[in-house]
Amino acid sequence: MRFSFPTLIRTLYAFSNTTSRTTPRTFSALSRPTVLRSMPTIPFIGSLFSSSSTRNMSYPVQKSDDEWQAILSKEQFRVLRKQGTEAPYVGKYDKHMPSSGVYTCAGCDAPLYRANHKFKSGCGWPAFFDALPGAVTRHTDRTFGMERTEIVCSNCGGHLGHVFKGEGYPTPTDERHCVNSVSLNFGPEDKAGESKA
Ligand SMILES: [Zn+2]
Repeated sequence: MRFSFPTLIRTLYAFSNTTSRTTPRTFSALSRPTVLRSMPTIPFIGSLFSSSSTRNMSYPVQKSDDEWQAILSKEQFRVLRKQGTEAPYVGKYDKHMPSSGVYTCAGCDAPLYRANHKFKSGCGWPAFFDALPGAVTRHTDRTFGMERTEIVCSNCGGHLGHVFKGEGYPTPTDERHCVNSVSLNFGPEDKAGESKA
């Protein structure tokens, strides 16, 4: 049996992730004091490693920071590989509303969103109500004292942005994938059907 430290952390993180999602904190504190007392370190470990666990997960495309820096611009590297955020309203795809085509990952070219997934949110970043099946992976992001849902490219793990739900946008999903333009490229032809799912 081999248990690496990252595996242990991922397991703990997955556990704390699940409990915090399914049980409101106030409820678990009132009804399960014994559980909380017996495992006091799990929420702490989960929050401590929440961002690094994203980077440690296995994605099909694996590159070192040096390799990524060789193929990405400084801004792409900061956003895609270091969970950065571009300034609002200035990204090249913020107001880009093509009638067809596909947005791909700027890191690995994987197709992520169709043009008809995009909608005008007014938030200052490209907004999509849905992604191509399996193209985007979600993680709980607890940086900056908030709990948000980070979205990354399922192929290379590159940081795309965050997804927000229940904001009341008139879209089929009521979800807003808030994506950095710098994490994306756009192709006018719909090649999503030709590549691997
Ligand atoms: Zn990618």
